[in-house]
Amino acid sequence: MAWFRMAGRSCRVKWLPLLVALLTTPVWAQEFPVHLRVLATHDLHGALQPVVYPWSQERPIGGAQAINWTVRKLTADCACATIHVDGGDLMQGTLESNLMNGAATVVFFNHLGLDAAAVGNHELDWGVDTLLQRQQEARYGWLAANVFEVATGARPTWAKPYVMLEENGVRIAVIGYATIDTPATLRPSVTAPYEFRSGYAALAPVLDEVWSQSPDFVIVAAHAGGECLDDVCKGEIVELARSIPAGRAHMIAGGHDHTAGQGLVSGIPIVRAGANGTAIAVVDLYKMADVVTFTTENATVYADVIEEDTMLAALLAPFEASAAERAAREVTTLTDTLTSDRDGDRRLGELIADALRAAANADVGMQNNGGVRANLLAGPVTYGDLFRVLPFDNKLVTLTVTGSQLHALVMQASPSYYYSNLHIVYDPELEPSGQIRNVTFADGSPLKPDAQYTLATVDFLADGGDGLALLSTLPREPIGLSNLDVLITYIQTLGKPLKLPVNARRTRLP
Ligand SMILES: [Zn+2]
Repeated sequence: MAWFRMAGRSCRVKWLPLLVALLTTPVWAQEFPVHLRVLATHDLHGALQPVVYPWSQERPIGGAQAINWTVRKLTADCACATIHVDGGDLMQGTLESNLMNGAATVVFFNHLGLDAAAVGNHELDWGVDTLLQRQQEARYGWLAANVFEVATGARPTWAKPYVMLEENGVRIAVIGYATIDTPATLRPSVTAPYEFRSGYAALAPVLDEVWSQSPDFVIVAAHAGGECLDDVCKGEIVELARSIPAGRAHMIAGGHDHTAGQGLVSGIPIVRAGANGTAIAVVDLYKMADVVTFTTENATVYADVIEEDTMLAALLAPFEASAAERAAREVTTLTDTLTSDRDGDRRLGELIADALRAAANADVGMQNNGGVRANLLAGPVTYGDLFRVLPFDNKLVTLTVTGSQLHALVMQASPSYYYSNLHIVYDPELEPSGQIRNVTFADGSPLKPDAQYTLATVDFLADGGDGLALLSTLPREPIGLSNLDVLITYIQTLGKPLKLPVNARRTRLP
């Protein structure tokens, strides 16, 4: 067993080749091996433009053109049967992709010639009907063999279990797997009709079916995370690999976790190149007699060494133009920079909590630190800037809560949460779960235990995300507005330029 987790990346990362030598056939009986190259990506999250990362030494990484060029080069270099599979979460995360609910990303993957993808949890962010629409446009299998309708026990139409591919006479079955975390990350109304089953039991009938068609290779594209550190492997994808009987699958292309990593679990290589199109896992599988060996490598996707594909540029141009137009719209001007620092300047998170509360006309607003994804710099603030702060398209929800429930909720939550119309007192020297020492309304008045209050937040938290299970038990009213739209509307009511006072919503005990 080996698993190498990437920590910091400076230049082209080469992984140690892993080789499984299971020579059960005498050498004299072997002929030429059947060679298949699998290119594996995951969690693109709509990243169609290159990005310069802190680790990339000023070099632009990823983006549609660079992924396209790198995939074609890795395919041509091999001159062998090559397929490209993706571990899911293709569409959601950039303005360019989100403005038309992922359509630009599907156009890109169609042009690239993607063969198969897992259904990631974020594929369902715009609901089942939108996923079905994108699947109709897609010229690749978009797969989830482990999802079933609660009512009928059958797979829903958006969860096709597998595809059979043929490349240069090599037959490959790709089976999809969707994480059992999916319901925890989405609105309950989207996922309640479905059951996400885990492990080999969920896949066994599909494996029987594909093996009856005599494939050379069987590959699982799994939107499921996991890792091995210090030789201890855990996580859904590890459990999945352990549960599959020997010889039934030759490789797993993983996803969901955004870090790069690879491992060998129960004889099955698992690869995860790294999210956002930064790298491509290259797995060469060789089959001789019935023995499969492999090597793996990770190719970083540099965007400064490529030739542009003009047809791809033309296909994406309309999406880029509408995204650029939207991103450039000025919303306000800031007098000073706002950071999403949980322990320092908290005004940005508190502004969002205020916006949620105002839009829902609620007593209290609540925003988690992890949901604030970027800072806002002093000066003009555009739609694009605000999109980077709140890229997840979470929806506004109002919860009804008693004073005692709200008190209990805030007391057990981390002090990193941002509140509107509450004041907390905390002691950072205590254990994280017990740091809050007191909570009142902003004006100092107490929360009345038996009174009913309204709490405005986003669906992710209301569903019990971020570990606050109590929220998921409260009566809720979905408002339906996106948190980004709510923030923009609120900012526009505050006057321009926007100057936010530093008002102490927290008191730190000495
Ligand atoms: Zn995911």
